[in-house]
Amino acid sequence: MKKTALITGGSRGIGAAVALKLARDGFIPVINYLSSRERAEKVAADTGGIAFSADVSDMEQVMDMINTVNKKLGGISLLVNNAGISYTGLFNDITLQQEKRLWDVNVGGVFNCTRAVLPDMIRNKAGSIISISSMWGQVGASCEVHYSAAKSAVIGFTKALAKEVGPSGIRVNCIAPGMIMTDMTSGYTEDVLCELKDETPLERLGCPDDIAEAVSFFASEGASFITGQVIGVNGGFVI
Ligand code: NDP
Repeated sequence: MKKTALITGGSRGIGAAVALKLARDGFIPVINYLSSRERAEKVAADTGGIAFSADVSDMEQVMDMINTVNKKLGGISLLVNNAGISYTGLFNDITLQQEKRLWDVNVGGVFNCTRAVLPDMIRNKAGSIISISSMWGQVGASCEVHYSAAKSAVIGFTKALAKEVGPSGIRVNCIAPGMIMTDMTSGYTEDVLCELKDETPLERLGCPDDIAEAVSFFASEGASFITGQVIGVNGGFVI
């Protein structure tokens, strides 16, 4: 029987690459998105999955999505918490509104989606949850204090939940990407990108497929004894 994977923020960037890879691995992907309907529907068409709009920061919308998916596809065996946003600026220049939104999406979204899928996973005594943090959640970034703190929270969430639900047969892991070329990083100047590349031991910037490969591994039977771990996919930028 095919397994179902919910990928939050699956309409573009890393999430879209993850959906394509998981479909090749035999999962039916559920492509969650916020507003990029056409792009999400294209990913769904390319993967044999379904697209569903829900703001991950809103528990009601998340529950609607999960209930619909459960009815249509009979449950979710893999949750990829990928949806995220970033704001760059000095700590005091980030507004309270931006701070709240960043926290609500990047941390609240992870909690909401997990809260929604976990009861079924516990009942089934099986499941896998993979969350996308960031290398800045591991080492901190100047001018991205709020983002770094939120991504650190995702690492703490992973480690604690892995301990709590391991006895229920559920694995919880985390990926901390380095600089990956997507819409999120399209605002970086050529000079900054060159600097980042020069500081990367493997001498290149990352692409969404680099992250999709790591998700695919964590989701596979080959990772059945791995939980509570954070894997850095960053070309050696953070070691
Ligand atoms: P993109 O900006 O390219 O894509 C973001 C995705 O998240 C889109 O699918 C977007 O949907 C979705 N999304 C945003 N807010 C919400 C929301 N409230 N509810 C549901 N979906 C939402 O980002 P990336 O692909 O670059 O990043 C993906 C993840 O990887 C993020 O968590 C990011 O923090 C993390 N990451 C990225 C790095 C990078 O260098 N790119 C490095 C480290 C971590 P829509 O299209 O509808 O707007």
